[in-house]
Amino acid sequence: LYLRYLQSEKSETIAHVAASLAHEVRNPLTAVMGFLKLLKDDSITREKSQKYIEICLEEIKRTEVILSEYLSIAKPNHSMVEKIELVQQIYSIVDIITPYANMNNVTLEIHPLEDKLYVSANPTEIKQLFINFIKNAIEACTVHSTGIVSIRIERQSQFAKIIIIDNGVGMSSEQMDRLGSIYFSTKSKGTGLGLTLSYQLIRSMNGDVNVRSKSGEGTEFILSIPLTD
Ligand code: ADP
Ligand code: MG
Repeated sequence: LYLRYLQSEKSETIAHVAASLAHEVRNPLTAVMGFLKLLKDDSITREKSQKYIEICLEEIKRTEVILSEYLSIAKPNHSMVEKIELVQQIYSIVDIITPYANMNNVTLEIHPLEDKLYVSANPTEIKQLFINFIKNAIEACTVHSTGIVSIRIERQSQFAKIIIIDNGVGMSSEQMDRLGSIYFSTKSKGTGLGLTLSYQLIRSMNGDVNVRSKSGEGTEFILSIPLTD
């Protein structure tokens, strides 16, 4: 019954996304069309045409992000579940995302854990899940020059706890209530799809997400994932 509930929840989300996807993609397309029309005019300066091309590229890139995030939600769940060593997995994700942290002047800290923690998960999905949370934490920190994101891994009885703390913008309780709901984003170029997918994934693993946050001070996400033998 629980599985069926998850499946119907997922297809409902997909229906919501599909309904508004056309709308989401139309805006950048309209912008691109407008700028291409302007570019047809021979009399515009090179400086202007460069700028228009730049905007077109940005808009197309945004469309691509929207579509690929949509596909990752909509694509049928391969359910190729493997036994994964979580600590090693998180180290490799930190390697992937460190350039993004550097680019944003954010320090990424990881507190080492000697233990090995095994969970059952789809390797691609779990990677995506951690990237989404860490990426958000980095983006929350761009408001100041001393952004720090720290990642801690713990074992608590039958669960692995991954704790991601940032000293970024934080959230109001209204914002926290909306986390994981589709298209909720406070970013000018956000999609609001990252956490929708992540919350679904973690629940499909019988895990859980807890959040503590304070506006202007920072946020702590605690992800709990059941351990496997
Ligand atoms: P996006 O990153 O595209 O906006 P997400 O689904 O990843 O979409 O996140 C949704 C929203 O949740 C963000 O726009 C932001 O308002 C809020 N959020 C998520 N993580 C954090 C964080 N670490 N600190 C502050 N706000 C956050
Ligand atoms: Mg995000």
